[in-house]
Amino acid sequence: MKKLSIMITLCTIVLYIASFNAKASDNTMKNIVTDTVQTVHIDPVCKMKVKTTNAKNVVYNKTTYYFCAESCKQKFVAKPSNYIKK
Ligand SMILES: [Zn+2]
Repeated sequence: MKKLSIMITLCTIVLYIASFNAKASDNTMKNIVTDTVQTVHIDPVCKMKVKTTNAKNVVYNKTTYYFCAESCKQKFVAKPSNYIKK
């Protein structure tokens, strides 16, 4: 009888680990989906659409702003209030 209870314990542990792994991969999938949704941003300086992957970004007032080029980024940094809607 001792062997049987050890087997049951092992099975429970294996199942637990398996379900944990399934949850982890679920989260990864969700992250990928959110990433693809948020890849396009509006450049606040020239109003152009920019992709996160090749954009210059600046964090201002806890918000991240994306720019098409270094020159747009510089204009924003010089006077952010010109480009942020209040
Ligand atoms: Zn721009």
